Amino acid sequence: MRIAVGCIGHETNTFSSVPTTLDSFKNGTYYFGQEMIPFFQNTHTIMGGLTKQSQALQIELIPLLWTFATPSGTVTESAYQTLKTEFLDLLQQAGKIDGVFLDLHGAMVTDTIQDVEGDLIAAVRQIVGDRPIMTTLDLHANITAEMARQSSVIIGFDTYPHIDCYERGVEAAGILHDIIDGEIQPTTAYRQLPLLTSPPAQCTMKPLMQGILEQLHYLETEPKVVTATLSMGFPFADIYDAGVSVVITTNADQELASHYADTFAADVWERRTAFDLDLVSVEQAIKLAVNSQHKPTILAEGSDNPGGGGPCDGTHILQALIDAEVQEAVVAVIADPDSVTTAIQAGVGNEVQFEVGGKTDPLHGQPVSLTGYVKTISDGTFIHKGAMGRGRTGFMGRTAVIKAGGVEVILTEKRIQPYDAEVLRSLGIEPTDQKLIALKSAVHFRADYEPIASQILEVDTPGVHSPDLFSYNYQKLRRPIYPLDPQTTF
Ligand SMILES: [Zn+2]
Repeated sequence: MRIAVGCIGHETNTFSSVPTTLDSFKNGTYYFGQEMIPFFQNTHTIMGGLTKQSQALQIELIPLLWTFATPSGTVTESAYQTLKTEFLDLLQQAGKIDGVFLDLHGAMVTDTIQDVEGDLIAAVRQIVGDRPIMTTLDLHANITAEMARQSSVIIGFDTYPHIDCYERGVEAAGILHDIIDGEIQPTTAYRQLPLLTSPPAQCTMKPLMQGILEQLHYLETEPKVVTATLSMGFPFADIYDAGVSVVITTNADQELASHYADTFAADVWERRTAFDLDLVSVEQAIKLAVNSQHKPTILAEGSDNPGGGGPCDGTHILQALIDAEVQEAVVAVIADPDSVTTAIQAGVGNEVQFEVGGKTDPLHGQPVSLTGYVKTISDGTFIHKGAMGRGRTGFMGRTAVIKAGGVEVILTEKRIQPYDAEVLRSLGIEPTDQKLIALKSAVHFRADYEPIASQILEVDTPGVHSPDLFSYNYQKLRRPIYPLDPQTTF
C-alpha cells in the first residue's frame, strides 16, 4: 500500500502587519522528499504517529513536500502558488499511489484565497480522483464546506495544548489504511456554528472544553462512528468561515453522521456563553505575582503569541516590569536579532545599553531602553521535553539572556513560542526559582508549566493575537456571529 504524504502549512493572522513570503516557508520548516521522514521519526507529531503506524501496517510512504512557516500575516499569492505547483508536481510524479495523507493546519489565507486548504485539497482531488484523501488539521483550523467535501476524512486535534498529535497521526493512518482496504466506507457530515471563540477559552485543560470533549469521545465509542472532530477555529484570520465547526465521519451511514453532527453542534452552541473570558491587566498581574508567597507566577501574554502570528517583540509587559522594579522575573521571549547582535558583540559579563523589542509596530509597544549585562549567549537550539512536541528540536536562532535589574530577558533571533520550559532551562534559567515568568503564549505553555506554576494569569495587552475578540475590526467574517452579535441564533 503506497500513500503520498505532505504539508503546506500556515496559521495566517490576517491582522499581522508582517506578510508571509516564500522565504518564510523556506526559512521555516521545509523538507523535500525523503528528508522529511527522519526529521519526524520518534517525535510527538502527526508525522511521528504516521511514520510509526505505517511501519506497523506495512504502508509505504511517498513523501512529497512538508513545509510550514511560523504563523504570521497573510501569505503572498505567489508563495502559495509556487509551493502548490511544487507539491502537485511531486504528487503527479509519485507513481501508483493508493491514497493521500495531507498533514495540514487549516487556517491559511493568501492575498486572494480565503480558504487555501480547500483550494489545495480540491487540487489534490483533481489528480487522485476517487482515491481516499485523509486530511489532518489543527484544532485551530477554520474548516470550510469545501475542505470537508474534498477530503474523504478530516481528523483534527482533540487537545489544546496540542499534545495528541502523535495519537491523531496513528489514528489517521489506521483509518486511511482501512479505507484503502475496503473496510471503511467514509460518510461525512460537516456543520459550521455561528460561533467565534478566543484561544484561552479553547484550552482543553479547562473544565468547559473537557466537558465538550467527553461528549465527542462518547460519540466515537458508537461502532458506526469512525471519527469525530470539533475544530475551535482561528479567530485571527478575518475570513468568512472563521470559527467553530464539527465534522463527523461514519462508516457507510450518511444519515447517522448528519444526526450526530446536528446534535453535537447544538450541544456546543448551548454552552456558548461559557467561552467568555476573564483577563487581568498587566499592573494587576504584576501585583499578584509580587505579593504571592509561591513561585512561579506565569503571565500568559496571548496578544503577542508568535504561535498565532504575534510579532514576538511586544514590550508592554517588559516595560511594566522595569518600571515596577520587579525582582526574580523572566521575560520569554523577545525576538530582536539586532539586540542579540549587540549582546554578542559586547560579550558575556559585560554591560550594554539596549533598545529592546517594539520594532515591528506600535500596537505591541515601543522599544524599551535599558542597561543590561549579558549573562548568557547560546546557539538557541534545544530539545522539547514537554508533552507538546517532545523529542523535536527547537531553533530559537542565536540567543542571548540579558539581565536588567531583577529582570532577565531572553532575546532570540527567531520568533518562537516559549511553551516548553526547555527554552528557559537550556539557557540556565530554572523556572521554579522565578517569582514571575512572562510567556508569549496563549495556551500551549500550560502543558509544561501548569504542573510547576503557582498561579497562571491571562494578561490583557494590545496585540494582533489579543484574546479580546471585540478588539478587532472584522471585515470578511460572516455575520451575525456570537459573541460579536449577542443575539445570534443557531
Ligand atoms: Zn493550534
